Amino acid sequence: MEKIPSVNELYETILSRSLLPLPGIEDALIEKAWERANRIHDYLLKRADRMDEDCMLCEKKKARQSQTRYAYDTPWDNEPVAKLFCSDDCGDSFMYEEPWAYFMCSRCDREISEQNPRNGWHIQYRDYDGQMTCLKCYEDLILENGVERDKVEAGKIPGMFFSYGNLEPIKAGYREVEGFRDFFVSCQYDADRFRKKALELMDQGKKVVIGYESMGIGGGEGYVSLLEKEPPKPKRRRRQNAVQNQGLDSGRGR
Ligand SMILES: [Zn+2]
Ligand SMILES: [Zn+2]
Repeated sequence: MEKIPSVNELYETILSRSLLPLPGIEDALIEKAWERANRIHDYLLKRADRMDEDCMLCEKKKARQSQTRYAYDTPWDNEPVAKLFCSDDCGDSFMYEEPWAYFMCSRCDREISEQNPRNGWHIQYRDYDGQMTCLKCYEDLILENGVERDKVEAGKIPGMFFSYGNLEPIKAGYREVEGFRDFFVSCQYDADRFRKKALELMDQGKKVVIGYESMGIGGGEGYVSLLEKEPPKPKRRRRQNAVQNQGLDSGRGR
């Protein structure tokens, strides 16, 4: 923002340029000069705040620097995008009303578009523990913990689109479950079979994630993949105990 003179500086200037007042009306002059300094200051502030670009919502008024908001188009972006508005009202309508609603991720505290403007408007958040969680944070959570069992029990197929070939879960040590890769779901029977398998794996102590492969418009059918990960192996006992139990020393140094 360009440097603008303070109210006091303006006041001094105005006074210095004024004629000497008639005796007895000095106070009135001072008051007028002060009002004028304030008005000019307001005007300069507004002028400095005005940008060349139009408001993104009303497209009629010029955007104001002080009304700029920063938000992420997708959870995967490293930098937020500046959104330019003329007023609080325009900013709020744009950010929190359809069709461009943004939400605050409960984990990373970023304001992110609810839908991805770059890939078919996929929803970019999931409910996790009752909190709106962005897909990036959700991915971290389910790779770490597996999908939430209560959702599967409640009849849902909680998952997300990973990179082609389910790269992220595979990198995290998951593997695709035989017979449930690119599994076609088009009716309740399919969905129940898929969920039953997921619950069965969880009963064995495994972590489970679900990759969405493709979804029909409207979500009436789609392809999903089930991936599983063995529970972590129990830690080996300390060397001394192991030696005692096996009755032999492997001879390996420390
Ligand atoms: Zn506007
Ligand atoms: Zn997040």
